[in-house]
Amino acid sequence: MRDIIIVGNWKMNKNNAETKAFFEEVDGVAKTDKGLYGVGVPFTDLRTALDNAENLIVAAENCHFEDSGAFTGEVSVPMLEELGVKYCIIGHSERRQMFGDTDETVNKKAKKLLDAGITPILCIGETEAEYDAGKTKDVITAQLNGSLKDIPAEAYENIVIAYEPIWAIGTGKSASVEIAEDCCKLVRDVVRDMVGDEAADKVRIQYGGSVKPGNIVEYMAQEDIDGALIGGASLKPDSFIEIIEKTK
Ligand code: PEP
Repeated sequence: MRDIIIVGNWKMNKNNAETKAFFEEVDGVAKTDKGLYGVGVPFTDLRTALDNAENLIVAAENCHFEDSGAFTGEVSVPMLEELGVKYCIIGHSERRQMFGDTDETVNKKAKKLLDAGITPILCIGETEAEYDAGKTKDVITAQLNGSLKDIPAEAYENIVIAYEPIWAIGTGKSASVEIAEDCCKLVRDVVRDMVGDEAADKVRIQYGGSVKPGNIVEYMAQEDIDGALIGGASLKPDSFIEIIEKTK
């Protein structure tokens, strides 16, 4: 069976002192052999996070797909690799909406990360208008076909897909358990069509969108939900600790 993987996404929050304090409080609680818990942190906090992580996994929140060059302000996969980063969030809806990430660039990032042995946490999900228009399946299928293009079936055990309906991110309006499970199952079915049963059964799928201590247990009870990507509720040690304790 698939191990659970619950990852926070701090976005553009926390300095080094706050990162150290968070890890001092939370890292010990994340000790378990039943699954993985971790946080995605800003580039500037990666060193501090990695130095203070014994149990929590540490993810970058983005990367560039070229190794080096004239890309002012970007961070490459070899740079993350050198730091010892093992997970990287890619294609978050905020990056797609505000910073021009596309399925094509996300696909290049995914391939680069996999080549470096770093697990991509690939975010996909539809807007509220797309959901209301009944286009969720089409949108998810197109995003997966584009973002995971030409990635071989064997790689999927090292890929995490975060299904995050954009209308549920940071809104407090979480998807119902039924919608979350239906869409995560849909993601698995699309992967099945793309690369076959074994990859579909191995790929870990997270739900993301206003997950908090009060709703994490019901999401995690669903067959196709293997974890969660958590924004707001990962910022406070207390709420992230509660999430860990309720699921480990
Ligand atoms: C996210 O940023 O990926 C997210 C799911 O945020 P929140 O949990 O705050 O909705």
